[in-house]
Parts: sequence; structure tokens; C-alpha cells
Amino acid sequence: MSRPVPNPGILDIAPYTPGKSPKAEPGRKVFKLSANETPFGPSPKAIEAYRNAAAHLEDYPEGTSHILREAIGRAFGLDPDRIICGAGSDEVLNLLAHTYLGQGDEAISTTHSFLVYPIATKANGAINVIAPEAEFTADVDAILKLVTPKTKLVWLANPNNPTGTYLPFDEVKRLRAGLPDNVLLVVDAAYADYVSRNDYEMGIELVATTENTVMTHTFSKIHGLAALRVGWMFGPAHIIDACNRIRGPFNVSTPAMLAAIAALEDTAHQQMSKTHTEKWRNWLTDEINKLGLKVTPSVANFVLIHFPLDKGKTAEDADAFLTKRGLVLRALKNYKLPHALRLTIGTEEANRLVVDGLRDFMTSNSLGSK
Ligand SMILES: *Cc1c(COP(=O)(O)O)cnc(C)c1O
Repeated sequence: MSRPVPNPGILDIAPYTPGKSPKAEPGRKVFKLSANETPFGPSPKAIEAYRNAAAHLEDYPEGTSHILREAIGRAFGLDPDRIICGAGSDEVLNLLAHTYLGQGDEAISTTHSFLVYPIATKANGAINVIAPEAEFTADVDAILKLVTPKTKLVWLANPNNPTGTYLPFDEVKRLRAGLPDNVLLVVDAAYADYVSRNDYEMGIELVATTENTVMTHTFSKIHGLAALRVGWMFGPAHIIDACNRIRGPFNVSTPAMLAAIAALEDTAHQQMSKTHTEKWRNWLTDEINKLGLKVTPSVANFVLIHFPLDKGKTAEDADAFLTKRGLVLRALKNYKLPHALRLTIGTEEANRLVVDGLRDFMTSNSLGSK
């Protein structure tokens, strides 16, 4: 009997596994620190805008996300005509892959990069080429070495998830300069709002001055609107035009748009979140280091913690130990980091509980925790 067969590449995709949803021992409060969500939620103004939108749910959204593109344009100093919005940046990343990748093409990403990239690549029949990293950081020379006549796209999360590392802007420029002109460079700046380094830039200058670079961004992280699914891209006019041709006609909902605009305008809420994140990122890095665990220096709202291989002290053991206390971190086996856990920076209470938990875990002499 014959039956429908998926396109080539589809069944090679390992389904995306999101951060665990928490379950703790009875009576314990649960902290979900596994999906890089903000502990503060969105701006109260965004919640209010969302509620107000409930009065008009019978109307289709305005299809080009005009008012949201204008608001993004104002906030970042960009031409709204060179912005496209999507249902999360996931949708935008998939639009790019669908527009520029086909059977047998190659797209390059790095060893521990965001899992959406290989999925979007393979969904379009293209080959996912993996460039090695140096110190858990994208390595421009390693990427350039893998370029072939079949290369059509390079995915670069800057800062990267799940490692928390970043490339200085000079390095991103060197990558662009070393790539052939027909290769699209996608700079995913989902965590840009958390970075405070003089040598970092989210990619706007490069996009504005080249015909082959785009930058994507999201409302899911510092704006706390992950549930609403809003992301966007800034790109050259010809790329925006091509992606708009295959975009769903009403891909961003009205409540999502209105909440996103209100979130963008509440710069005090963003600043509060950034300041908190920076303070606790430093504190967590220091405290966890003191316990004898290595932490990869991060510029984002999470840290990557490396565990020993000794029985009873592995990342898997730590994950089980902390989960029992209601502290849910992200295991990273499918990111090829089986010996590490990713911790999203939480409230002061959550951060202190994690360090206490890790201290107890490291000093307990029981073998295993199951
Ligand atoms: C969280 C994240 C995003 C955001 O995805 P949305 O679909 O906008 O929620 C994009 N890129 C990376 C690397 C991320 O970690």
C-alpha cells in the first residue's frame, strides 16, 4: 500500500524538545529556569494593551504589522519598510530558510547553536553543516573554512544560546567580509538586550550597509511576551520583499502586536530587567565557580554550568537533585552538551536557592541522588 511520504530531509529532523515543565516534591515551590524566560513577566502596560485588544477579537489583524513595525523603527532607529514581523522569531527564521534554502544547498551553524537552525535547514531539504567552536564561542575562521559553492546561508546567534557567549562586532564584520556575496548571513540577536559590552553590536550597521545580511530579534526574552509569539527581522529591502511573499497574510495577532508595542515603549521595565540580570549573572558565576564548577562567561540571561564526569556528580545527577527541590534547569544532551546544564537567571530567591542547591549537591557524599 502506498501512503504520503514527507519531503527529503523532514524525517532526519529530531523534534525540538522544549525546556522541561516543572514538577517538584509536594510542598515545594517550583522555579522554571529552563527556557530563558524573564522572571519579571511583561510590562504591566503590555498586559493592559493585551486585555484591551480582547474587545475586538472578531477582526482580522492588520496584515503587515504596520503599527508594530513603526514602533520597532522608532525604538531602534530603523526604516519600518525594512522590517518584517513574525509569530516569534522562529517563524522569521523559517521564512528565511524557506526563501533561500533548497534541496542540496548547505547552511552552516556552529556546534552548540540554537536547535531551530538545523530544523529550518533540513525542513527545506538543505544540509546542516556544523562549524566547530572555540571555547564554546563561534569561530569565524572555522565557519569560513566550511564554505563551499553550495553554501547559501550562515546562522549566527549573537549572543548564542545555550552557551551565552558572543562575537565582538569586528568578528561579525570579518565573517561577513569573508563570506561570498551570495551567502545570506543571519544574525539572531534574541539576547541583545542583555549585553553590555563596548565591542558588541546587534548587527544593525551591517544589515544597513550590505545586501546579504539580516538581523532577527524577539519579544520573548527581555519583553516577557513568549506566550504571544512575536519576533521580527531587519533586512535589505529585497530580502524583506521575498519573505513577505510567502509569509502568512495575518501571521501576527492584534493582541500580540499591541502588547509588543506597549512593551517596547516601557524602557524602564527593560532597564530594570537588564540591571537585575547583570547583577545576578555576575553573582551566580562567582558563587558557582566557588563551588568548583566551571561556568562559561555569559552576556545573556542564562549561564552554562559544566559538571564533572564522576559518578554522583554529573550534570544528570545535578539535574535530578535540583528538580526535586523545584529548581528546573535545562539539560542539554540534544545540544551536544551532556555534561552541562543551562540556568536561566531568575529572581533573587530562585538564584540563591540554586546556589544553595548546588552547594548541597557538590558537598553531599551520597553516590547519585535517585
Ligand atoms: C529564545 C530564542 C529566540 C526567540 O524565539 P521566539 O520564536 O521569538 O520565541 C530566538 N533565537 C534564539 C537563539 C533563542 O534562544
